[in-house]
Amino acid sequence: MRPSGGRRSRTRRLFTAGLGTETNTFSPIRTTLTSFADHLLVRPGERMPGGPTLDTGPQWAARRFVEEAAGWELVEGTVAFAMPAGPTVRRAYEALRDEILAQLRAATPVDAVALSLHGAMVADGYDDCEGDILHRVRDIVGPSVAVGAVLDPHAHLSPTMVEAADLLVCFKLYPHVDFAERGTDLIRLLTATAEGRVRPHTAVFDCRQIALYHTTHEPMRSLVAQLATLEGRDGVLSISIVHGFPWGDVADLGTKVVVVTDARPERGAAVAADLGRRLVTLRGRCAPAHLPVAEGLARARTSARGPVVLAETFDNPGGGAAGDSTVVLAAMLAGGMTDACIGPVWDPVAATYCAGAGVGASLEIRVGGKASHLSGHPIDLRVTVLGVNDDAWQTFGGARVPLGLAVGVRSSEGLALLLTDRRTQGFSPELFREGGIEPCAARYVVVKSSHHFYDAFARLGGDVVYLDGPGTVGQDLRRLTYRKRTAGLWPFDDAETSPFRQVENVSSRTRNIHPQARRAATASQQGSPP
Ligand SMILES: [Zn+2]
Repeated sequence: MRPSGGRRSRTRRLFTAGLGTETNTFSPIRTTLTSFADHLLVRPGERMPGGPTLDTGPQWAARRFVEEAAGWELVEGTVAFAMPAGPTVRRAYEALRDEILAQLRAATPVDAVALSLHGAMVADGYDDCEGDILHRVRDIVGPSVAVGAVLDPHAHLSPTMVEAADLLVCFKLYPHVDFAERGTDLIRLLTATAEGRVRPHTAVFDCRQIALYHTTHEPMRSLVAQLATLEGRDGVLSISIVHGFPWGDVADLGTKVVVVTDARPERGAAVAADLGRRLVTLRGRCAPAHLPVAEGLARARTSARGPVVLAETFDNPGGGAAGDSTVVLAAMLAGGMTDACIGPVWDPVAATYCAGAGVGASLEIRVGGKASHLSGHPIDLRVTVLGVNDDAWQTFGGARVPLGLAVGVRSSEGLALLLTDRRTQGFSPELFREGGIEPCAARYVVVKSSHHFYDAFARLGGDVVYLDGPGTVGQDLRRLTYRKRTAGLWPFDDAETSPFRQVENVSSRTRNIHPQARRAATASQQGSPP
């Protein structure tokens, strides 16, 4: 056993692990163990990505921390992430969860547990996977160990998560290019908690709404910039805006503000309420208009600045869609908009046929439209193979993201497609170049992504048009049949039935706080927000 009590000189132990995916409960694709193996599954002793990635910010930050800080050692558990899709099959979720919990038990005693989670993972029998994981971690390590996680803002924040964790830190930016900074935030605050230098208290404000929030544009850009000016002052340790993930039918669906203070519950509740009320006033103004396909293509035709980037948001694999929709492809062929490239199109069969035929080959292929009725119809094309790369990459926020097999083809009409054998969203123009397609040479660039594409594609200098259509990530949420979301949530219910006055401080964690602060926290939970 370790010595305890008094001034400590022993080595402290930090445990890291990660498990997550973004579950679109309306997606036709199930998430299995293979989905994790295909995307990111790193076990202890195996090679972790060298730099930080969207899924490994805490792991990267923890390694840097133990290199630089005296008195800490690191124990790394498994990291498993799957490309967003439908619910995870129970045996896959339980196997990966239990693998990490067994690693944690073997590593005890530990002083801090830092997890990379998502926040919107749903498995068979588990609507709140992150609450389940954090609760089980807490049971293993006990009440005095610092437990925290980095979450994607497209999360369903549950009372269980808040109760079990000392610190929950979301990416602030959308596109989430701040994954390294947020991993660093978590490790810094978690180790400070373990060393007794801070006593985190979490206040949550529920905005009773669900929406997309693009932080690249106003008004969200200024709001997010303000968070940095509030952090580090008056006891505020960390502020996160949980956007919520609209395509997850769970009870905890919704936008929430999380403010972590150093044992200042009233301050936390006040800051959370102030920011939350501002988000309520910004309803409907936090993302650009998404145009129906025909209208969006017409807009692109008249656009002055090219290449015009068209976001095929409704078929974004990063939101759980298949990535094989032909709806936009068919419309562009019908409209003669063939000075274009589209990608990434998930079609393992067509990609494999074309790769086998080789660069320069001409052949007939049937493309896309296979995953479900939401993917449109398969389209027959005669194509010439432009490029084949069986280990292709694109980039996101400085991280390299594997594409798998990437094959560029050009149809006899002139339209270029980037075919892949792996489901992934489009992050950067490199994805086209990996298949021998130069996106800057095209008048129209169609990318299957909701908004992550924007960080790199906006730099091409052309106009950006967001398309909506019949897909797994369609923007008209009122067309979806939710069974589990709560009533009184905008935009499903109007301002009259989802009023701002119903908003309350839903939860406050009081562990590690001295009795006076705990009494104040209890009072603020029972009353209306300050
Ligand atoms: Zn996200």
